[in-house]
Amino acid sequence: MMKQYMKIKEKHKDSILFFRLGDFYEMFFDDAIIASKELEITLTGRDCGKKERAPMCGVPYHSADSYIAKLVEKGYRVAICEQIEDASQSKGIVKRDVVRIITPGTITDDKVLDEKSNNYLCCIYMDKDGIGITYVDVSIGDLYTTQIIGNEKKIERILFDELAKIRPNEIIVNEFLYNNEDLTNSIRKRFNTVIDKFDEWAFELSTAEQKIKTQMSVVTLEGYGFKNKKYSIASTGALIEYLNETQKVSLNHLNNITTYSINKFMVLDMNTRRNLELTETIRGKSKKGSLFWLLDKTSTAMGGRLLKRWIEEPLINIEKINERLESVEELINNILLIDDIKKLLTSVYDIERLMGKIVYGNCNARDLLSLKNSIKVFPKLKSILLTTNSKQLTKLAKNLDTLNDIYELIEKSVIEDPPLTVKEGNIIKSEYNKELFELREAMTKGKEWLSKLEKREKERTGIKSLKIGFNKVFGYYIEVTKSNIKYVPDNYIRKQTLANSERYITPELKEMEAKILGAEEKSMKLEYDLFVEIRNTIRQEVKRIQKAAKIVSTIDALNSLAQVAFKNNFVRPRLNNKGIIKIKNGRHPVVEKMLENELFIPNDTHLDNNQNRIAIITGPNMAGKSTYMRQVALITLMAQIGSFVPADEANIGIVDRIFTRVGASDDLSQGQSTFMVEMSEVANILNNATNNSLLILDEIGRGTSTFDGLSIAWAVVEYISDKNKVGAKTLFATHYHELTELEGKIEGIKNYNILVKEKGDDIIFLRKIDKGGADRSYGIEVAKLAGVPHEVIRRAHEILSELEDRDIAKNSVAITKSNTYEESKTNETIGEKNNNHQLDLFSIKESQIIDKLKSIDMMQITPLDAINLLYELSKEA
Ligand code: ADP
Repeated sequence: MMKQYMKIKEKHKDSILFFRLGDFYEMFFDDAIIASKELEITLTGRDCGKKERAPMCGVPYHSADSYIAKLVEKGYRVAICEQIEDASQSKGIVKRDVVRIITPGTITDDKVLDEKSNNYLCCIYMDKDGIGITYVDVSIGDLYTTQIIGNEKKIERILFDELAKIRPNEIIVNEFLYNNEDLTNSIRKRFNTVIDKFDEWAFELSTAEQKIKTQMSVVTLEGYGFKNKKYSIASTGALIEYLNETQKVSLNHLNNITTYSINKFMVLDMNTRRNLELTETIRGKSKKGSLFWLLDKTSTAMGGRLLKRWIEEPLINIEKINERLESVEELINNILLIDDIKKLLTSVYDIERLMGKIVYGNCNARDLLSLKNSIKVFPKLKSILLTTNSKQLTKLAKNLDTLNDIYELIEKSVIEDPPLTVKEGNIIKSEYNKELFELREAMTKGKEWLSKLEKREKERTGIKSLKIGFNKVFGYYIEVTKSNIKYVPDNYIRKQTLANSERYITPELKEMEAKILGAEEKSMKLEYDLFVEIRNTIRQEVKRIQKAAKIVSTIDALNSLAQVAFKNNFVRPRLNNKGIIKIKNGRHPVVEKMLENELFIPNDTHLDNNQNRIAIITGPNMAGKSTYMRQVALITLMAQIGSFVPADEANIGIVDRIFTRVGASDDLSQGQSTFMVEMSEVANILNNATNNSLLILDEIGRGTSTFDGLSIAWAVVEYISDKNKVGAKTLFATHYHELTELEGKIEGIKNYNILVKEKGDDIIFLRKIDKGGADRSYGIEVAKLAGVPHEVIRRAHEILSELEDRDIAKNSVAITKSNTYEESKTNETIGEKNNNHQLDLFSIKESQIIDKLKSIDMMQITPLDAINLLYELSKEA
């Protein structure tokens, strides 16, 4: 047996081999050492024909799933090696082979998978000119692929953006990419995923193409949009080959490939997804508090996953967005419909994953019932949607296959309350199969005969407590208590002695037993065969069922958007391609939900491609600057996923990307300083934003000294405002009040501030955005609100007024005069663009001098006073 083990292990060196021995999966050697540590199970040993015993550990087969899941979650691959022939039928060592390799990207166990998330396996083919990315959720079968051509920098950036959306649990790559260690390491770190190299030949164009054709059962790939997509073909073909090698079953639920172009969706990089808290919050990484949390009122897991996908992939095509909006509007106009749909959908199970189980052959009769109960509501769902005026809803309804044949098949075959096991009978209705009916009859008759026998023997022997029983070892027996043994007739044969009774058999009892047990065994086998037959029939129809499941998910997702819109008073946004974003009384959809005792104060927004391109927003900390900026980004994003938006009115110009640079990222694990992270994010934005992008920049330059920071912020605003360089619509929150000087000097810049009211030493946040810059920062007042000790607050006020009295611009002089390389460069850039700026930047000093000059009354001043004043001023300058 150990030889057999070695032979199999040789083929699966990179996996932990679960070797089936009777009721256990055993692991040996290094696998055992790793598994015992990771699973916290005892390490033992076993003779293996060598001097030393082989390290060994094992887990019972019936609870293996959780152990496998644990190992896979830790990034290991687990190869399941089963006995592939019946031990009782085989001579010598029973044949064994690996039946499946479970990897992080190919888990299908629904106990482990999150029902509202996909578990993606991703395959990437890359060379110096392009990249193909393919990903699949094998528990469902959806397969998506895209390719990008371009230089290395572009490819890498887009790869990161795509991975941020896909969030794969496992990535397999070709050699070229694998050898780029910098890249693979940063992918590993950033996305916390495993990356492995896969066989190079599998990526070869002709091999890959053939693999796809075989999987899709087609002779040409034309229908799948693979024309001129050699990168996509390579990554898709290799992915299919990898699945063939690891899954070892024919995956016929994997029958549809979506080839997509990244330009079809709004681009969101990883930081933006996080900053806008699309699917999880930054702090705590919880769903609660995210946009998905707010919008997800879906009734099915499939609908939930689809809605999440919509949030992760906002559209940019107005027609497509309007299709969704129109459906949502129609549902809201028929509010009773929303409830009706919801009620129907609550009895729909996760059909997509059920089909995965059916394809993998690991479903049970209860799963079939779940499928039946889900399908049951389809006709009603179809008929109520056909009554609506919405084009999309009626189209969905028309295309919804009500799968009557599948319903009928399960209805007439599977009993209502089947057990979890499929090999022990009691799952198929008697009427479904004549032979099964007869076997059941025979069993019933046999059991009737037994009870008659019991009655007869009681009378014959006079033993009232005599009874007929059954156990697995001795079969049927007649049990007599010890006190009655003396009445036992001669033809009873003693079989077993217990403490208080004796058990007997008789030849006629054994004869009937053979009949009953034979029928039972036969019927169990027959039931299993019938079950497999039914399962396979359903499996043949996987494509139809998946299509229906997709339609139901879409209805669920739209219905969810409608519920949320209705409940929260959202409005349908209008959409334009002119770059105008006009929002009346907009709200932050999540913050307004989270506020407990306060009302959310709505605010307007007006951005366009001309006079209102950049909003410089000033105001104290805590005033609501970031909330406001995120609210604009979220409203835009929501509009583009086809959701209604939290506002009184909204007209949204489609944006191709949203970029955010907000606060310090909390994962500084990359070994970079906060400032470095901030600047590389800024670099990414400046290099990639376009005229049609929306930028949210919160306190750029905060991570360095005031003047460095101010200079950078200033230069960034200038650069963005240049239509030939960036020209994106931008919301720019800053503490540098100097930046408000740009209004009127650079076209497209407008100042805004968030109002506060002073009340004695305190301030009250009004949360209202207003035109113009803020005059003060109110840092000390905010510190007071935050509970900084009174003494510190008092002292801070003292210092502030001292500083204000003294010459606060001392620093500025030093900096203006500074001739260090960095500073002079920054100043140069500013100077080059607009010579006035340098003056403006460091003009605090000058303005004070001017103020003093202005205050002189020339008619009154004596020559001596004038000379003294001149002397004073020259000292200050
Ligand atoms: P800033 O970015 O100016 O420091 P935030 O945007 O972080 O301020 O806002 C601080 C807090 O103020 C938020 O957590 C929120 O609770 C509250 N807030 C912000 N905007 C509003 C608003 N429009 N209405 C009500 N509360 C608001």
